[in-house]
Amino acid sequence: MLKLRNTLTRTREEFKPLEGNTVRMYACGPTVYGYGHIGNFRTFVSVDVLRRYLKYLGYEVVHVMNITDIEDKIIRDMRAAGKGLEEFTSFYTEEFLRDVGLLNIEHPELLPRATHHIDEMVEIMKRLEANGHTYESEGSLYFSIATLPTYGKLSGLKLEGNKAGARVDVDEYEKDDARDFVLWKAPKEEDEPRWETPYGIGRPGWHLECSAMAMKYLGESFDIHCGGVDLIFPHHENEIAQSEGATSKPFVKNWFHIEFLLVDGKKMSKSEGNFYTVRDLTEKGFSADAIRYLLLSVPYSTQLNFTLDGLKGAESAIENLRNFRRRVKEIDGNAESQSRVQEALTRAREEFEAAMNYDLNTSGALAAMFELRRDINTAIDEDEFGEADKASVLALLASFDSVLGILGEDKVETLEAEVEALIEERYAARKNRDFARADQIRNDLAERGIILEDTPQGTKWKKK
Ligand SMILES: [Zn+2]
Repeated sequence: MLKLRNTLTRTREEFKPLEGNTVRMYACGPTVYGYGHIGNFRTFVSVDVLRRYLKYLGYEVVHVMNITDIEDKIIRDMRAAGKGLEEFTSFYTEEFLRDVGLLNIEHPELLPRATHHIDEMVEIMKRLEANGHTYESEGSLYFSIATLPTYGKLSGLKLEGNKAGARVDVDEYEKDDARDFVLWKAPKEEDEPRWETPYGIGRPGWHLECSAMAMKYLGESFDIHCGGVDLIFPHHENEIAQSEGATSKPFVKNWFHIEFLLVDGKKMSKSEGNFYTVRDLTEKGFSADAIRYLLLSVPYSTQLNFTLDGLKGAESAIENLRNFRRRVKEIDGNAESQSRVQEALTRAREEFEAAMNYDLNTSGALAAMFELRRDINTAIDEDEFGEADKASVLALLASFDSVLGILGEDKVETLEAEVEALIEERYAARKNRDFARADQIRNDLAERGIILEDTPQGTKWKKK
């Protein structure tokens, strides 16, 4: 049984979908005004592991991730870039999806954009107005937090001491500064993007878009809402206020929050020189698989310290697992399946599932994979590995990897193609009496553990 930590109840709870076998989940997506950094991607990789594990457990998943394509920082930066809203945000949306692909993050079922859901936002404002939760001031519409007694339940905020009726217009602010927040903003500058609505010409506050898109695609109450811990206040608190203020129903059953990422033990910042985007790291020669591995190597609910040494470690951990998979594929086993192998498989599966069921303990899941590698390697070394065990080991590895997504496709075929090409080149070199080149190819391959054998039928190769 899967247990997940729920920020709302501050406990780990057994997970069960609200309806049937389908999990409806929402994750706050990127604000598209720059390249995503690895702190952002720790969140997206963690959400991806959650969705993949839910599927592993046999659930259907409907996962919505919004694209925030209108927001304070977007307006600031599109102006600086001299670009229009659509042109500016489309570019960064594409770049975000490119990084998503590189990190092997599965696409959510739906990727709605905020600016395509203004009508749904207006509907929520109408319901909030009818329920007495809103007021207008200087052309903007605000949510009055004093009208909702449960306001603050997610973040544990105490409302005493907050000035009644004090307002905030910006999208992000501190917890000690809880205020009535803006739903619909009157334009401040002439060239600001704007929409015409019954609440005047203007643009939505950040929080409103997530309530609108979540409820449109997942219903007024759904299972899981994800995001980084930095979104608990004000963003998620305000999403709850807007949604529950409009519907009088519980908005989300389980709030799933991903802890911070530190780099070299410090908060990531451009001025500290420890700020990395995915492309910064791939340009340094690290693989996206290693970035993904490091991001999921500790459970989502604890802080992760990201270092370049950790990334090197991740590269070799992946290489070890891939070499193991290749060894299993290539081994000629005994005729019979061996009971010690079957026992190791059962043990690994149980450990993997026990770890994942306990609030997605990904480091425990990786440990189960490495134990499997150790046990099977020993069985092979001791000649207790059956031909029939091959398929079961490979199937279990594939099923673990359907959750972790770190091993990727086997590279054996590319190796084959590469060796065949070198053999042809060597043949041509010998025909041209370029024996130096021919010998060099043979030696290079030998160094990589590949032995060439010239036979009357042509050159054959095998691994040492
Ligand atoms: Zn959101």
